[in-house]
Amino acid sequence: DTIGANLAKTVAAFPDRDVLVERASGRRWTYEQFADDVDAVALGLRDLGIVKGDRVGIWAPNCAEWMLVQYATAKLGAILVNINPAYRLHELEFVLNQAGVRTLVSAKEFKTSDYAAMIEEARPRCPALQDVVFIGGPEWDALVAEGREGDPAVLSEIGRTLGADDPINIQYTSGTTGFPKGATLSHHNILNNGYFVGELCGYDEEDRVCVPVPFYHCFGMVMGNLAATSHGACVVIPAPAFDPAATLRAVAAERCTSLYGVPTMFISVLADPSLESLDLSSLRTGIMAGSPCPVEVMKQVIERLGMAEVAICYGMTETSPVSTQTRAGDSLDRRVSTVGTVHPHLEIKIVDPATGVTVPRGEPGEFCTRGYSVMLGYWEEPAKTAEVIDAARWMHTGDLAVMDDDGYVSITGRIKDMVIRGGENIYPREIEEFLYTHPDIVDAQVIGVPDEKYGEELMAWVRLREGAPGLTAGELRSFCEGKLAHYKIPRYVHVVDEFPMTVTGKVRKVQMREEALGILG
Ligand code: ATP
Ligand code: MG
Repeated sequence: DTIGANLAKTVAAFPDRDVLVERASGRRWTYEQFADDVDAVALGLRDLGIVKGDRVGIWAPNCAEWMLVQYATAKLGAILVNINPAYRLHELEFVLNQAGVRTLVSAKEFKTSDYAAMIEEARPRCPALQDVVFIGGPEWDALVAEGREGDPAVLSEIGRTLGADDPINIQYTSGTTGFPKGATLSHHNILNNGYFVGELCGYDEEDRVCVPVPFYHCFGMVMGNLAATSHGACVVIPAPAFDPAATLRAVAAERCTSLYGVPTMFISVLADPSLESLDLSSLRTGIMAGSPCPVEVMKQVIERLGMAEVAICYGMTETSPVSTQTRAGDSLDRRVSTVGTVHPHLEIKIVDPATGVTVPRGEPGEFCTRGYSVMLGYWEEPAKTAEVIDAARWMHTGDLAVMDDDGYVSITGRIKDMVIRGGENIYPREIEEFLYTHPDIVDAQVIGVPDEKYGEELMAWVRLREGAPGLTAGELRSFCEGKLAHYKIPRYVHVVDEFPMTVTGKVRKVQMREEALGILG
């Protein structure tokens, strides 16, 4: 199916059920109301001249209009270009030009970002850009009003010209390891992936999914929105951007059954003082993804949030995104030490990155996947695409993984983050897990820094609990002594209040490595 055809089926099956709740404004939509508004937005965009294959950018924090534009562009066969709300002028300009965005839907401003001013400044240098529509402004109202005058039969006609393998989305990667890359995805890619995520979470029309993760990222728009709408479930937007207290209030007030987040978000939610006073008993499941989940966090998510069935997903933007997921019946141990097993209808293998040969079970190598989920390619970057997708259509992820005898996969780090100290391969993840057992450490990240003698040395960045007296390198080393192999004991310690993060909540180790050079002098 195309996304439009799939939505039409859900609307027919559950016209009166909620599909969307925006907590900040109190607005809510049933499937039927949502379908009407999607049509109005689609016809309004068509009046601006948007046809199949045109790029429509969206640059806004999470809001109901974001989701309307997502489905409206899919119905037109236009290519939605997700723009990270944290971008600044330079990055905005890059994306608008790289993707050739013709119409940009945006918020006027949000928090410290004056989007309108940045767009104004970028505009003379973005020749493809013709229209800018600010959500909530007169342009938006006019677009919707025009669209309501239009004939929805036109959309059915357009629908017949669309194919499930057409590109409908350019999603930029998080930029954790460098500059973001635009993954071009089809209906088939992301609709199927969202559908299977929903299947594995056991979603049906009774489910209410709290989505505090950004829509601009596949975690929000595929694993959230598409997983929900392909099952008749409801998306609850707790706030425009992640806010732990608002997230908890949304779960309690909307009786959400599922909650999403990257591990650092769950850490903040668990630390929020309102947690104990709210009724969160509706929560059953949820998804943690994006980066490794510490054991302690997982335990608390299950016990204190009551998310007994919480799943771990692993994937990347380029693969729609999910490749592996834990199942509801998996043991706690498997949900912390692995990212689950392969998703339906996909193939995975772990290969020696040097030779490309599949390694034996239990040995580390590069995670590769093949199947419907692999992107069409990086937008207008055939050379970069060829670096990651081989002739047999295997996607080489750049992630290091181990598969056990039962097919459970553990992610042991990124090839780029692996530290080689004195010839020993060190996976920072393993050391980070160990550092969490220190009573004063609430979060830890380990990087490699250049070293004359060993090539690289380990440096631990740690966040300490409030009131902790501090931590010296000597103290940390004696804590590790006898419990970690000597070469895995960090030589340096750097205490921080926060790690450099991407807006998707991932730690930017590239930036840490740059800053470390300054710290070490
Ligand atoms: P960029 O490609 O721009 O450097 P990125 O890889 O972080 O950024 P995304 O596509 O958002 O961009 O993230 C995918 C990556 O996130 C994966 O390749 C993997 O390294 C990491 N990841 C995703 N899920 C998990 C997980 N459950 N456990 C560990 N790592 C994960
Ligand atoms: Mg990546």
